[in-house]
Amino acid sequence: MKKERVIVIGGGFAGLAAAKRVQEAGYDVTVLEKRDRFGGKWSSWTDEDGDVIETGLHVYFGAYEEIYELMKDIGIYDRIQWKEHVLTYTLADGERFEFRTMNAPSPLHLLPAVFQNRYFSWKEKLTLVKALGPIIFGTESYYAKCDNLSYQAWHRNWGIADRMLSKMFLPMTLALKFLPPEAISARVVLDVAGMFLRQNHASKMGFLDGAPDDRFTGPLVEHLRQRGATMRSEAKVAEVETRADGRVSAILLDSGERVVGDQYIFALPIHNLKRLMPERWKAEPYFDNLNQFEGVPVISMQMWFDRQISGIDNILFNPDGIIPVYADMANTTPAYYNEGKSRFQFVVAPAIELMDLSDEALIRRVRADVDSTFPDTAPDATMIKATIVRIPNSVYWPKPGTDKFRPSQASPIPNVAIAGGYTRQKFYDSMEGAVRSGNRAGDAAIARLRGESVAVSPAPTQRFTAQPA
Ligand SMILES: Cc1cc2nc3c(=O)[nH]c(=O)nc-3n(C[C@H](O)[C@H](O)[C@H](O)COP(=O)(O)OP(=O)(O)OC[C@H]3O[C@@H](n4cnc5c(N)ncnc54)[C@H](O)[C@@H]3O)c2cc1C
Repeated sequence: MKKERVIVIGGGFAGLAAAKRVQEAGYDVTVLEKRDRFGGKWSSWTDEDGDVIETGLHVYFGAYEEIYELMKDIGIYDRIQWKEHVLTYTLADGERFEFRTMNAPSPLHLLPAVFQNRYFSWKEKLTLVKALGPIIFGTESYYAKCDNLSYQAWHRNWGIADRMLSKMFLPMTLALKFLPPEAISARVVLDVAGMFLRQNHASKMGFLDGAPDDRFTGPLVEHLRQRGATMRSEAKVAEVETRADGRVSAILLDSGERVVGDQYIFALPIHNLKRLMPERWKAEPYFDNLNQFEGVPVISMQMWFDRQISGIDNILFNPDGIIPVYADMANTTPAYYNEGKSRFQFVVAPAIELMDLSDEALIRRVRADVDSTFPDTAPDATMIKATIVRIPNSVYWPKPGTDKFRPSQASPIPNVAIAGGYTRQKFYDSMEGAVRSGNRAGDAAIARLRGESVAVSPAPTQRFTAQPA
């Protein structure tokens, strides 16, 4: 008997997770990816010198779950290198502070973070301690209310010291979503901080042991292929063909080819989905809500030196320049060990005003930050090379007031599901959020193929009914 077929559009982590889910349920699956490689926002390639370039610095958190299940299923979980459980802040003029945790039930695990930190005064620390209650014990309705505020407004409403905003939370919001505290919903910070405060292991961080293409995406794509999935790179979707009732009848590639399936999962960045959305879907609130979302620009930079600048084997935060979060990957990542010579990977943010700077100007700014952050080792070092990746639309922007517009993965079109960080799940636009959204989109497609009904949010109007296809 011919198996029903699911077409997944987009071969990032959300699309690959959806494909795995659907394939395991016994359906035929085809993944269409426009680029020449899979992995989307976390992919890698080799430049003309043979060096691996990654789209961006990627860190795994202890709080993640479904991405680890996926990695265990394909036998690659042991490729995560867990680091010492400490948040290290590196500042201008070589100044440092850190937050350590200890192995004790939450919130006692935070005691060393409060008592050992000497950078903030007791007066400053107490302003934060006062605000821990709502973060740890806040209800869903409190968190939902906080979505209407920026993190900066929430911070100031609670009277938390401004120096904690500029030195501790600024690099955190820039690391989370490449946005400063005034541009990000307070809910995102409370969700993440709440998770870190409630679960001892949640803020533990790790790195993959090598390039994502070799060590993660490649094996995952191969796993899917060996089990019969059709994995098509350089297959750019140009148009979505629909029937009168809004259902998808075919996907048109830019080569003119028509690809037909029984269910369709759109695992695209929000700007790409908006571009492809058929006109007839747009009046439906479910799809109209997507206009609330857009991508955040960010820049990634890698920098090689002729000697070791930083001996730290962990993620590093920096509130003082344009490199809020970075790592010396020669220390953190076995595949990048380089005879002790530093090989940094930086997130350069906020990037809105930096996107148009020339490569030379950007490299000068980052180099100045490195010199100031490591005054004992960096100024005398020679920079061997630097590479830059500009991403105009990276993760979706969680603007204050927009969380309520995030849709379920099941759409009101009976043969369409969507996946991506902006769809509803609690890990926003992260590797875990992508995998979760992909899993849920896969589940929605499977349920509909089995003739089961699925919940759609926001609920569909009469234009489309959420009946099985
Ligand atoms: C610099 C940077 C650092 C990050 N750091 C972290 C981190 O430390 N930890 C963490 O958990 N997350 C991090 N993230 C977030 C994480 O990378 C994303 O949340 C995740 O990769 C998103 O996966 P996705 O599949 O939803 O989207 P994407 O990865 O964007 O995948 C979508 C895919 O769709 C394809 N596509 C687009 N248009 C078409 C079309 N017309 N036809 C066919 N295919 C199309 C794209 O080429 C892409 O491959 C970071 C992101 C960036 C940019």
